[in-house]
Amino acid sequence: MRGIYVHVPFCVRKCGYCDFYSVAGGGEEERDRFPALVEREMDRIVRSYPGEAVVPADTVYFGGGTPTVLGPDRLLRLLRSVRARFPVAEDAEISVEANPGTVTGEEIAGLREGGFNRVSIGVQSFRKETLSALGRIHSVEDVRAAYRYARKAGFSSVGIDLIFGNPGQAEEEWRADLDLAVTFLPDHVSAYALSPEPGTPIHGAIDRGETALPDDDAVARMYADAREILTGAGYRHYEISNFARPGKECRHNLKYWRREGYLGLGPSAHGLLFPGEGAPYGLRTANPPSLSDYALALGEERLPWGSVHTCSREDTWKESLIFGLRMSEGVSPASIEKKNGPPPEPVRGAVEKLIGSGLLLQSEDRLQLPERYWFVSNEVLQRLA
Ligand code: SF4
Repeated sequence: MRGIYVHVPFCVRKCGYCDFYSVAGGGEEERDRFPALVEREMDRIVRSYPGEAVVPADTVYFGGGTPTVLGPDRLLRLLRSVRARFPVAEDAEISVEANPGTVTGEEIAGLREGGFNRVSIGVQSFRKETLSALGRIHSVEDVRAAYRYARKAGFSSVGIDLIFGNPGQAEEEWRADLDLAVTFLPDHVSAYALSPEPGTPIHGAIDRGETALPDDDAVARMYADAREILTGAGYRHYEISNFARPGKECRHNLKYWRREGYLGLGPSAHGLLFPGEGAPYGLRTANPPSLSDYALALGEERLPWGSVHTCSREDTWKESLIFGLRMSEGVSPASIEKKNGPPPEPVRGAVEKLIGSGLLLQSEDRLQLPERYWFVSNEVLQRLA
């Protein structure tokens, strides 16, 4: 079964490190127009690829941006529209990202009643100085309130997102964030090292010497702290940056890492269609990171795909390894081969080199990235690209 991702491109204000596509401070009119655009995109897909209308989905994920800026009525209308066009399994995981300070208790309860069953709260930190250094709009009180509302509403999974390696952040402050996080008993925790994107205010401030990130060794120790504290509290470190109570892994994100199919709807959304057995190996789609270009394409009765890439066998192998090796379960080369045929020579050679140098572990039918390399996974995995 596949997943469906809807990118909601609105935020109250841009955070100091973020270059995800979103419109900050947009008005009600723009938000009112948004659900009809996504509905038009879904209709366009169904008209262009009628077979897509019958592919069942078992995950639907509303991300952003800040989906909760759209408000529950528009989010629930969109969820109903997805269900009206595509078969969504009874027991599907239906997630929404919610940022503290953008949702009331009543609104979050409305989302639960309307069919969302998993919520991911963008906490980032429990320390007001860190939140302010990141340019987040919310307070620590907003975090506590959002979590309380989500639990009260009865979501079957409540996750929190944290960021470490923040400007001026001391290691004890990060450990304190982790210690506090586990007392909330979230089902899922994502912990990402801050990586300010070029062109963002924090990146500019670092370039000008006005602020500094902790050095690499300190950030590596913070990563080790996350692993120690969260696994010690019963979470499974199932992906490089993700921890979950057993059975509470994010099923939607597992699709990305396992290279299963998903529709990507909304501006800047990416999708992977038809990743079946053998050729064609899948079609990677990318919508433009611009609400106006997205609306223009749909107004012209076009698919809003800014780029489309037909995957080759080599692409498929590389993607399966690069994404799959992010998970603790690793990958099964035999399963990839069964689906896609034997690995092309450059891929086979790169894998053998990594095994030979101890950067990949081979056991029975699986390949895994040793845990000691998780923090530097990008450097290892790029050797497969
Ligand atoms: S709320 Fe999220 S998507 Fe919006 S600007 Fe901040 S980090 Fe980026």
